[in-house]
Amino acid sequence: MNKTAIITGSSRGIGRAVAKRLAREGYNICINFVERQDKAEELLKELKGGGCSAVMCRADVGNRDQVNAMVGEAVKSLGPVTLLVNNAGVAGQALFQDVTDELWDKYFSTNLNGARNTIQAVLPGMLERKSGCIINISSIWGLHGASCEVTYSCTKHALIGLTRSLAMELAPSNIRVNCVAPGVINTDMVQVLGKDVLKELAEQTPLSRLGTPEDIANAVNFLASEEASFITGQVLVSDGGFVN
Ligand code: NDP
Repeated sequence: MNKTAIITGSSRGIGRAVAKRLAREGYNICINFVERQDKAEELLKELKGGGCSAVMCRADVGNRDQVNAMVGEAVKSLGPVTLLVNNAGVAGQALFQDVTDELWDKYFSTNLNGARNTIQAVLPGMLERKSGCIINISSIWGLHGASCEVTYSCTKHALIGLTRSLAMELAPSNIRVNCVAPGVINTDMVQVLGKDVLKELAEQTPLSRLGTPEDIANAVNFLASEEASFITGQVLVSDGGFVN
């Protein structure tokens, strides 16, 4: 059976690990990036070298036309999209009184509208086939409050609302929608915090380490698999026990 996955924001970090893991599971892979073409090309070469059918598409997920073009290219080159992983995201710290309209709109455009755009682009095909799987990458800050991360936290809470509601709407069409909520994962995104803060965060984590992109790829792979075929509308937290 054809298995094709689009993973948004898969040039780096969590998305890249998800793409590699799903390639090992036999998926055709559409790599998405917005700036780091070099990293996307590197991954494309690696996946193809391992025998995977893969393409890469530059698309700002917040831009509907670019997303539609990416999905069209993936379908044409790889076949019907059976799995969508909404991973592309931006984050940062700011006091709420300093949050500008531009910053607010950028976070919502990428983290939330991005998921809306990609889901609406793949949905007609999934509905026609009465089958599909959608996994949104939220955050533990989508379940809990985070000082100085109000905007980010709002977008990640909204992704969980999207997941739970859409799961109900699409279940009769045999399309599952789930969420993964990572804790602190050691990627480019968290490097701004600095070495000392990251060390403290690892110490505060009951499992005594930061998460790896591969930890999240494992959670995504489980939710995408047949073993999760009775699971929809759920949030799988992978955070080493950081919050409870
Ligand atoms: P990184 O910053 O390491 O990578 C971000 C990825 O998203 C890159 O591939 C980047 O592409 C892509 N991207 C950013 N903006 C856009 C856009 N507008 N359109 C398309 N792609 C875009 O982030 P992480 O891997 O750490 O995070 C991935 C997801 O996991 C995010 O949604 C994040 O919120 C979530 N998350 C991360 C946590 C962490 O601790 N790291 C914790 C909880 C959740 P390019 O390379 O081209 O710039």
